[in-house]
Amino acid sequence: MEYVTENDLLNENPDLYNSTVGFISDYVNKHFPNINADKRKMIKSATLEGIFSGSKTIGKTLENIFGYHSNLYQMTLDLQGRPLAFMTRYKIIAAGAKYYYWRTVEDTKVRASHKKLNGKRFAILPKYATKKCPYLQIYPGSEHSCRCFMEGILNV
Ligand SMILES: [Zn+2]
Repeated sequence: MEYVTENDLLNENPDLYNSTVGFISDYVNKHFPNINADKRKMIKSATLEGIFSGSKTIGKTLENIFGYHSNLYQMTLDLQGRPLAFMTRYKIIAAGAKYYYWRTVEDTKVRASHKKLNGKRFAILPKYATKKCPYLQIYPGSEHSCRCFMEGILNV
């Protein structure tokens, strides 16, 4: 299987690239406040690389910094998954969607609060919010270990 590289997707869209770099930077600053700036920088670049090339780069970097521990796998999945969800949302907005369906993976691990949102329609930006389609502060894939995804609605 060939991976899509960051050159393919990010470098052809400077705004998406900059937004994603900004998202990763904020995410790492928020979730790793207790390490020095150099280590945070290492995590940021490993994450940018790892969201496309697989999670190995991210996992290795975290292990180098923190040593092996039981949260490593989950931290790695989050560092890969949250930026991907951010990018999906970005691309759906760029495609012109105003609304989206919240989709869960519909297995037993889906948290109750997201199960309630499954299949419902929401505004993708606050300015599109209506009574029937409210805007949520969270979006599919934005929360810790969330595997939900956003399905953009383009014909409304
Ligand atoms: Zn979820």
